Amino acid sequence: MRELEELAARIIVCTDCALSGTRTHAVPGEGPDQPEIMFIGEGPGYHEDQAGRPFVGPAGRYLEQLLGSIGLRRDQVYIANVVKCRPPNNRDPLPGEISACRKYLERQIEVLQPKVIATLGRFSLSQFFPNESISKAHGRPRTWKGRVVFPMYHPAAALHQGSMRGAIEEDFGKLPEALRSAQQGPPDEEPPPAEQLSMF
Ligand code: URA
Repeated sequence: MRELEELAARIIVCTDCALSGTRTHAVPGEGPDQPEIMFIGEGPGYHEDQAGRPFVGPAGRYLEQLLGSIGLRRDQVYIANVVKCRPPNNRDPLPGEISACRKYLERQIEVLQPKVIATLGRFSLSQFFPNESISKAHGRPRTWKGRVVFPMYHPAAALHQGSMRGAIEEDFGKLPEALRSAQQGPPDEEPPPAEQLSMF
């Protein structure tokens, strides 16, 4: 899609924050033009910075395994990140970097119109629900601007921590049902008015 390509072209040359000075490649994101599910990670790591593609290192292999567990391949979903350039030494992205990059994520969501946004990790969750803790929110679909947001732990964190690993695997198992209900209509439709209910 032309708009996504144009957006990627802007991201690749973006100098709106200091991460542009240390990146090898910006990582705009990849996937189909009309994805049902969009995964949003935190930011590129070493491998992603080298390749210019999201989730191609160990966390990516685990993500692919998780997708496989629900019958999906990575080329069937869109994969992006909160920040499009690697924070040096994989440090957390800074608030100013996140806000400089936010316009790109917003535009991606607008263009892609995914049925479900699956957030990976706390930085991604906080783009949608700034005050939520991931340990409480994970695995439970939420509504954000008429769209389903499904919070999950980050696969890199889950890889190294047994308890999160069980949780992320269980949460992935719930994703097909979250998608099915999102496909049935916008999640924020109002319930029928009381007088209609009282007829029964
Ligand atoms: N971790 C992320 O958050 N994003 C990637 O693209 C890779 C690892």
